[in-house]
Amino acid sequence: MSSPTAPHGASLYEAHKKVYPRAVTGRFRRLKWAVMGICLAFFYLMPLVRWDRGEGSPDQAILIDLAGQRVYLFGLEFWPQEIYFVTGVMVLAMLLLFLATALFGRVWCGYACPQTVWTDLFVMVERWIEGDRMERVRLDRAAWSWTKLRKKLAKHAIWLGIAVASGCAFVGWFADAPRLSHRLLHGTASMTDYGFVLLLTTTTYLLGGIAREQVCTYMCPWPRIQSALLDEHSRVVSYQAWRGEPRGKASDPTAGACVDCLACVQVCPTGIDIRDGHQLQCIDCSLCVDACDSVMRKLDRETGLIRWESFTGQTQRAAGLPAEWRPVRARTILYAALLLAVAGAMLTGLTLRQPYRMDVLHDRQPLFVALSGERLRNGYVVKLSNQTRSAQVFTLTVANHPEVVLAIAGEQDSAVHHIQLTADPDGQTVYHITAALPQSHMEGGTEPLIFVLSGAGRPDIRVSDHFFGPVWP
Ligand code: SF4
Ligand code: SF4
Repeated sequence: MSSPTAPHGASLYEAHKKVYPRAVTGRFRRLKWAVMGICLAFFYLMPLVRWDRGEGSPDQAILIDLAGQRVYLFGLEFWPQEIYFVTGVMVLAMLLLFLATALFGRVWCGYACPQTVWTDLFVMVERWIEGDRMERVRLDRAAWSWTKLRKKLAKHAIWLGIAVASGCAFVGWFADAPRLSHRLLHGTASMTDYGFVLLLTTTTYLLGGIAREQVCTYMCPWPRIQSALLDEHSRVVSYQAWRGEPRGKASDPTAGACVDCLACVQVCPTGIDIRDGHQLQCIDCSLCVDACDSVMRKLDRETGLIRWESFTGQTQRAAGLPAEWRPVRARTILYAALLLAVAGAMLTGLTLRQPYRMDVLHDRQPLFVALSGERLRNGYVVKLSNQTRSAQVFTLTVANHPEVVLAIAGEQDSAVHHIQLTADPDGQTVYHITAALPQSHMEGGTEPLIFVLSGAGRPDIRVSDHFFGPVWP
C-alpha cells in the first residue's frame, strides 16, 4: 500500500531515523540508574520474597492468584468481592501521576515507566557490546563483517535473555514463583504459562530493544493527556533561550551561552533538540541537563542553561528576577486533596474490613408459598464468606420480626426463630433457607426483613431484604 502524499507530492510520513543516545554522566543520570535498579530489582525479585501465612496458604509476599481468585499482599488477602480495593489502588496511582505531572512534568515517563526502564537497560547492553554513540553509528553503516555479526548476535542474544527473564518474572507474580521456575525449566509448566512467557518475551524484546522511543512518541496516549495537566508553573526540562541565544562559538563575545555543541541532542533518548522548546517527545529525563551542565563546567560558565524550570520561572529569569516556583496552586491542591481522600477511604476500609461476610438473595420463583395455618413462606439464598483458615459457626436471626420461623431448606421445620449456619474455612458456603411468617403480621404485599448474623466474637452482620406475600385488592 502506498503512503498518502501531501498535495505537493511529498510523503506525509517521515522516515524513522534511528536514535543513538550518547552516554552521559551527572546527577540526573545517577538518579536514573538508581530508579532503574530499584524498579528492575522489584520486578524480578519481588515474586521470590516469602511471607508466612500459616499452613495451607501460599507463602509468596505478593501473589495475584487468578485461579484461586485471591490477591495476596503481605499480610492482606483480597477476595473478588473486594475488587474496589484494586480500583482504589488504580485511582490512587492515577491521582499520584496527575500530581507528579502538575509539579514536575513527565517525571514518571523519564524515570519509572517500564518502557523507559527497559529501554535504558537495552541501550546499556547495546552500548556495552557495540560502544558509544559514534561507534554504534559507524558499526551500523559498515558493511557486514565477522566483527559486526558477532557484536549484533551478542547484543540480540543478551536482549533475548533479558526478555525471557522478564517473561518468566512476569508470570511469577501470578503463581508460586520458585515452583513455577522449576516447572518452566523442566518443561512441565502449562501451555498458558509458556504462552504468557512468550508474549512478555516478545513484547519486552520488541518494545524495549527495537521500538524504544517510538513507543513514547507514537503508541503511548500519556503525552497527549499530560498537556492538560501542565500549566505555566509546572517544572519541565527547558532550554533557557534568553541566555543561550544567539548560539555561537565560545570565543565569540557576541554569542549567547549555547556553543551549539549538540551534546544535549546526542544524549537525548528520544533524539530531539530541547532548544526547539518543550516537545511532545520529551520525557523529561533530564539527561540533556547533565550533558549541557558538563559542557558549561568545561567552559567555566554557569550551569543550568538547560534546567528544570517552569514557564513563569523562565520568564522571571529572563527579566533578571529570581525564579519563583509555585508548587501550591489550585490544581495541585485539588489532586492532593483527592489523593488524601481516596487514601483515607481505603485505609478506613482496610481497618474496618471483616473476615466474614453475608449476602442474602430472595428466591425469584416462587415469591412466596402459602402454608397451612394462614402462614406464608419465602425462600432465600444465604452466602457466607469466610476469609479465615478455620470453620466458624454463626447464628442467623431476623431482628425486626422475632416471630419469623427460620429453617434450612430441606431440613425438618423445627419452628425455631434462629438457625445455626457454619461458614466453611477460606471460601464461601451457600445455604438455601426459608422464613415463615403468619399472614396477619403483614400489612401489605411486602415486609422488610433484617437478617442478623452473630458469632465469631465479631460485630453482628446485618443484611436487609424483603418478605413477600399476596397483594389484596
Ligand atoms: S530533551 Fe532532554 S529531557 Fe527531554 S527527552 Fe531529551 S534528554 Fe530527556
Ligand atoms: S549542550 Fe548546551 S551548549 Fe551544547 S548545544 Fe546543547 S544547549 Fe547548547
